Amino acid sequence: MTDYIPVDLRRLVTSRANRCCEYCRLHEADAFLPYEIDHIIPIKHRGETREDNLCLSCFDCNRYKGSDIGSIDIETHQFAHLFNARTMIWSEHFRLNVNVIEPLTPEGRVTVFLLRLNSEARLIRREQLIEMNRYPCLD
Ligand SMILES: [Zn+2]
Repeated sequence: MTDYIPVDLRRLVTSRANRCCEYCRLHEADAFLPYEIDHIIPIKHRGETREDNLCLSCFDCNRYKGSDIGSIDIETHQFAHLFNARTMIWSEHFRLNVNVIEPLTPEGRVTVFLLRLNSEARLIRREQLIEMNRYPCLD
């Protein structure tokens, strides 16, 4: 969820992520809507507006994430937190299989599920960008 973020902090988060969505790895230049600064732990859950609780998110990821912090993992049946770009490494929780983001952990699975990372529209968009060598934008 985006709330008021001071300009300097917004710049830091955007440049730190190289304008790449830290969840789905789509570059802002390839997105239809401007990127948002996401509170990893939302304000609603007492998350703070500090650089270690912020990440860059595309509109779709942020919209589907909303104020969620996690969900029940379908395999372990336990609560798992959403991927946290400040404390977790993307490649330890996900791997790309062509245009599909495959989860590797409970955190990966709840993130793919809640943020709808593999919706049909997103898979099509990624496929187009892969053909143009424009996806993913972070390794
Ligand atoms: Zn995204």
